[in-house]
Amino acid sequence: MAEFTPGTKIGLTDSGHAEIVKTLGQGGQGIVYEVMVSGKPYALKWYTCKLKDAKTFRATIQDNIKNGPPCDKFLWPLYLTEEKAGSFGYIMDLFSSDYTDFPAILNAKDKNGNRVSFKSTEIMILAALNLVNAFRELHRQGLSYQDLNDGNFRINLKTGDVLICDNDNVTPDGDMNSGGVGGKPGYMAPEIVTGKAHPSERTDCHSLAVVLFKLFFRHSPLQGAEYERLPCMTEKKELELFGTKPVFIYDPDDESNRPVAGVHNNAIKLWPLFPPFFQEAFIRAFAQGMKNPQIRETDNEWQKVLVRLRDTLFVNCPSCGREIPLTKIDKTAGIKCGGCNSAYSYPRLLTYASLLNVKDYYVPLFPGKKLYACHTNSNDDYSAITGEVVMNKNNPTLWGIKNLSGDTWKMTAPDGVAKDIPPNGAIPIGAGVTVQFTGTGGSIAE
Ligand SMILES: [Zn+2]
Repeated sequence: MAEFTPGTKIGLTDSGHAEIVKTLGQGGQGIVYEVMVSGKPYALKWYTCKLKDAKTFRATIQDNIKNGPPCDKFLWPLYLTEEKAGSFGYIMDLFSSDYTDFPAILNAKDKNGNRVSFKSTEIMILAALNLVNAFRELHRQGLSYQDLNDGNFRINLKTGDVLICDNDNVTPDGDMNSGGVGGKPGYMAPEIVTGKAHPSERTDCHSLAVVLFKLFFRHSPLQGAEYERLPCMTEKKELELFGTKPVFIYDPDDESNRPVAGVHNNAIKLWPLFPPFFQEAFIRAFAQGMKNPQIRETDNEWQKVLVRLRDTLFVNCPSCGREIPLTKIDKTAGIKCGGCNSAYSYPRLLTYASLLNVKDYYVPLFPGKKLYACHTNSNDDYSAITGEVVMNKNNPTLWGIKNLSGDTWKMTAPDGVAKDIPPNGAIPIGAGVTVQFTGTGGSIAE
């Protein structure tokens, strides 16, 4: 069908109408327009493709509208349109201009050639957490997203907020998608590529792992030497590389598809900068999990892994703010900031017997490091700040954990003397101190 011209009015099923303002973009399933509804701008996705079962597809969107979004990170369908010229569409909120699409993030520049980068590594990890958490909430509603790829979410690079669009394919987990999507090459789980399964919560988790791998390593998890060896990609070979015989580029038991120096430099440079537990999560997702979807890393496990990464990957220089990576630091030599040359002793560690399903979990207690409810309240809230490591103004060698939780904590000094730590009080950081937070507890080690 021809595109709608500006000024065209399309009725909405509830009441009122959407008036076309302009075309915003075109995808596999349809055209996205900017429209006005009751004097406010929105986006309209209008289907131009043949839907596998349009009646069921429409009914599923209607159900999703009725049930509302799993959380505020989704640009959820708001209204359905009436049918026009044998098709229909739905209305959703527009992306705000503060959000950047994933291809621009991966290219480190946008369509106009402007440089694109996260404000900090911490914000990049927070964006990953927000994305993972959004899918966790969606899956907990019994839904699957079905088509996660680089085109259907955007990130605010300053705050780490994410917004996910294209929620029209969201389907109760286990149901066949009536719109007929299977996914995008490179993001699809191998069992979809081979036709052995249809999209589900399990295959969403594969696509999610691909997005995370691309975010952190700026490369595709399956494109290594085997991919480079091909003079041209044939359908048969593509089925092999992404479906029947996928090999993770860092599979510890199969070196056949390692990244190629000079071609896959991002992966080669970035992979060793991350701690083993983070690498192992991807190995589980893409080596073992590729063959067995049941052991694939879940959204909930990714959330825990990312919290741990944020805790342990780096600290910020209290003097100039620069991120100092901790992975490669010799503990006995202490920390030296590469930006301003300030020197600090290696931070003492807050250790837990077990936290976030990890035995002997630790958080380096360096000035500026934050504790969240997941560290102090025995829940999985990674965004509510409940504590922060602070430096004594008069004596910068004295550090403490400031209680920002609103609850009274308890500490026991190495000599056995116990003390209450009221809100806004601080626990002096010293070896042998034990701490009882609101719902968890730990001790401070060397
Ligand atoms: Zn510095």
